[in-house]
Amino acid sequence: MVTGSTSGIGRATALRLARDGARVVVSGRDAGRGREVVQEIRDAGGSAEFVAADLRDARSAAELAAQAEAIAGLDGGSLDVLVNNAGVGAGGPTAGTEEAVFDAVMATNLKVPFYLVASIAPGMAARGRGAIVNVSTLAAARALPGLALYGAGKAAIEMLTASWAAEFGPAGVRVNAVRPGPTRTPGAEAGLGEMLQQLAAQAPLGFVADPEDVAATIAFLAGDESRFVTGAVLDVNGGRMVV
Ligand code: NAP
Repeated sequence: MVTGSTSGIGRATALRLARDGARVVVSGRDAGRGREVVQEIRDAGGSAEFVAADLRDARSAAELAAQAEAIAGLDGGSLDVLVNNAGVGAGGPTAGTEEAVFDAVMATNLKVPFYLVASIAPGMAARGRGAIVNVSTLAAARALPGLALYGAGKAAIEMLTASWAAEFGPAGVRVNAVRPGPTRTPGAEAGLGEMLQQLAAQAPLGFVADPEDVAATIAFLAGDESRFVTGAVLDVNGGRMVV
């Protein structure tokens, strides 16, 4: 299952995992775009189902987890991969940030991944296999003005990545994260506009990533080729951290 796979990085990840042979649960709020992604996967010979979910609390997370597990179990399969990708990229000065905005950002970016893992990881552990990939951000590791709240929530996800790797690793469940830099998605173009290219220009490679660039790294962490990798946070940012 890939959360937030109606757009951007999540959509590219769903398409990539399906191409690699996974049966994918596509999820998001927008049913129209969700169905388009499912159709695109099926047209390419893959298998996918859409589950609508507005992810903002523990209950919505648990409900989506139950639906995804039911779909995975239909043909005797199981939910072996969870990509915690759905996220909101709120920006702005700390002063004046409404409490409702703080709560909404933390709910979708931190609380929901926590409760998805709480619902799904125990089943993976009981089966002795599973891979969880969390989507962080460059702003979790580098202070970027205006991204304090967003960066703090994602930094917490990176700590959860390590904690969950320790908690579930002995049962055969791997937990890793990707830390994307500027990536050309509908959400980033709407939120950052010109800033996307300006941010990208500060890294050695200098260009804005395509969602497929991040999806390829997520697919690596979700698949067996990374079977000895857990608790890792992989930078996918054009080399920004080495400057
Ligand atoms: P995007 O194009 O805006 O896509 C965001 C996805 O998240 C959509 O599928 C959206 O679904 C879903 N989503 C948002 N709020 C939701 C909610 N309350 N319930 C359910 N689904 C929800 O953004 P993106 O750039 O691909 O971002 C994906 C992830 O990458 C995010 O976690 C973001 O923080 C991270 N990231 C992005 C960049 C970048 O430069 N693009 C860089 C670093 C990290 P609906 O539209 O259907 O509601």
